[in-house]
Amino acid sequence: MTRNKEDYIKEIYKLGGGEEQINNKQIAEVLNVSPASVTEMLGKLQKEELIVYEPYKGSKLTEKGMKAAVTLLRGHRLWEVFLIERLGYTWSEAHEDAEKLEHVAPVRLIDRLEEYLGYPAFCPHGSAIPQADGKVQRLQLKSLLEMKEGESSAIRRVVEKNDLMDYLQELGIHIGSKVTVEKFEALEGPVAIRVDDTPKQLSYKAAGMVYVDKN
Ligand SMILES: [Zn+2]
Repeated sequence: MTRNKEDYIKEIYKLGGGEEQINNKQIAEVLNVSPASVTEMLGKLQKEELIVYEPYKGSKLTEKGMKAAVTLLRGHRLWEVFLIERLGYTWSEAHEDAEKLEHVAPVRLIDRLEEYLGYPAFCPHGSAIPQADGKVQRLQLKSLLEMKEGESSAIRRVVEKNDLMDYLQELGIHIGSKVTVEKFEALEGPVAIRVDDTPKQLSYKAAGMVYVDKN
């Protein structure tokens, strides 16, 4: 499979395409491509029996497509664990290089890497690493913007966007950090928080891309 096809399969999976039909607009948005190129690619993926595509409804992964997606995500997230824990990469560096490694590493290598790392359940950004059989551990999360003033919770996941990850790391935010919301400024202004009891200001937009335990 080409790298481009693999990226489509992976994004459809991440959007929930294992369980439901994902519309073209969502796919175009996450991949930052035109609706026309999405339609064209979906035709190709359907031909290869990776998805079932119904015009005006959307795409759902076949079993073959699911398998391919799980393999890619396992690779991506296990490489991230390795690069950050063993090689001292930053969050965004690891995400960038994992994007490349996921397309070239054979399944055998990924399985051995998983064993070597001690079967981690989550990547360093908090996304679940699917097991070889496709099973995924799911956490009940909500965005930091859904918290109330005075509420505390634990940071569990951040959206994997390079600029966001750099910003959060610079602020000293970690997966597992305890976070308390002090105040939401008016008009989507900055959010005053405490992270492990240190006061910080988080931009409103970034706060929407940080996830905490629901309860
Ligand atoms: Zn990650």
